[in-house]
Amino acid sequence: MATYKTIYKCRECGATSYQQVIDRAPSGALKPTGQYRCTGCRNIFATIRAWWEPRRAPDFQPSSFPG
Ligand SMILES: [Zn+2]
Repeated sequence: MATYKTIYKCRECGATSYQQVIDRAPSGALKPTGQYRCTGCRNIFATIRAWWEPRRAPDFQPSSFPG
């Protein structure tokens, strides 16, 4: 399976590479699901951004938005 090296780091474990998640389609073909698996902690992320982006700060206040 292809491994992709990046300049980013996993927010969970600090690994710098990931793999595409491959799953078997109903037709039997193996296809990428569009998700990504960290090569370090093996967690699966919906996007690359979700993989490297730090979690939202705990003091984030949605009520501070206008409207
Ligand atoms: Zn990781």
